[in-house]
Amino acid sequence: MSHARDTSQPAPPDAARQEPRLLAAGPDAGWDQHLDVFGPLDADAAAPGLLDALAASGLTGRGGAAFETWRKVTATAESGRKGLFAARPVVIANGAEGEPLSFKDRTLLSHAPHLVIDGLLTLAAALGGAGTYVYAPAAGLPRVRQALAGRPGTKRVRVVEAPDAFISGESSAVVNMIATGNAVPVDQRRRLSESGLNGRPTLVVNVETLAQVALIARYGAQWFRQAGTATDPGTRLVSVSGPAPVRDVVLEVPGGVELSTVLKEAGMDPAPLSAVLVGGYHGRWVRPAAHVLSPEGPVGGTVRPGAGVIHALDPHACGIGATARILTYLANESARQCGPCMFGLPAMASVLNRIAGGERNPRLASELDRLGRLVSGRGACRHPEGTTGLVSSALEVFAADFRAHLAGYCVPLGGVAA
Ligand code: SF4
Repeated sequence: MSHARDTSQPAPPDAARQEPRLLAAGPDAGWDQHLDVFGPLDADAAAPGLLDALAASGLTGRGGAAFETWRKVTATAESGRKGLFAARPVVIANGAEGEPLSFKDRTLLSHAPHLVIDGLLTLAAALGGAGTYVYAPAAGLPRVRQALAGRPGTKRVRVVEAPDAFISGESSAVVNMIATGNAVPVDQRRRLSESGLNGRPTLVVNVETLAQVALIARYGAQWFRQAGTATDPGTRLVSVSGPAPVRDVVLEVPGGVELSTVLKEAGMDPAPLSAVLVGGYHGRWVRPAAHVLSPEGPVGGTVRPGAGVIHALDPHACGIGATARILTYLANESARQCGPCMFGLPAMASVLNRIAGGERNPRLASELDRLGRLVSGRGACRHPEGTTGLVSSALEVFAADFRAHLAGYCVPLGGVAA
């Protein structure tokens, strides 16, 4: 795909000046504003070179798992070409955001829905005219429908409501919801790229990833790589929250950015913070200093951004108590259709709540560890594994607090654990 710039088109956002990319059109951008800032995108004309451009860009998914986007698209394209699974592919824009600390996708859908739709239509064209869906929570649907109604070529895009549940954005749950109205993960014998919605090769793509696809289709891989690092190119949206009076904010940051830089940009002083949750409820607790956000984490001072959640723990709050509350929530949010979620996660939550409550029983720590090993890697989806990953990071970062709790004392609360 050639990207000699058409001077009749608006100039792309300038990386050297750190101009916003995804939210460049400003708040609540309508179709005209979108065209003024980004110019038109002919999906059919952009489609032939799109896969090469995505591969060269190094774009990874922004929904959590960070798979290379071009590989996912290629797998779906190949299944469609083989004709083994009987049909035209399907592309689903996944705007479900069940993670309680995440709000970047709903912000993007609200302010830049046309960029998401551009990415959806371009991927559909690259897959030879795939069927298209937008899957989004009820609160985001009016804006999506308004955007679809306000532009040409979108009559066939179907809109489906995503339930407000933690697990509703998992890829097989998305397909299951559209097919049956039940947003729970399905144990897939075949990959969705081979056999997904109604047996068709199916590509479920996070809405931010689609917006990035739209930018790469316009400006090319080289432009995309002007921000970020060689191993984590481009920008990503992050949902940043912390103790009052910090206000929840969505920031667009370059790949490989230092965690402390993000915290400062959100109005926080990293120095007094004891721990930051990165990647959300399936992420990890880390100390704020000396960590950079990168999908390569957690190695060598890097931590995976996951779905872009960054939440600073109140320095006066108890990390054990905070983790116990999250674990209780996650145990309740499972679809309760696999053993690890039916029995393992509630048992882990119970043990951790006993530790948080200051029960003086040294065997609780080894019991928590034993249960974690029992549930991890089992089940039809990554829910048990993601949950145990969070708990193991808490055991590491709050090790001294765990010891104090098992002796009946809570350091951050300055007294008896309760
Ligand atoms: S592992 Fe848990 S959340 Fe995932 S499908 Fe099974 S019961 Fe549901």
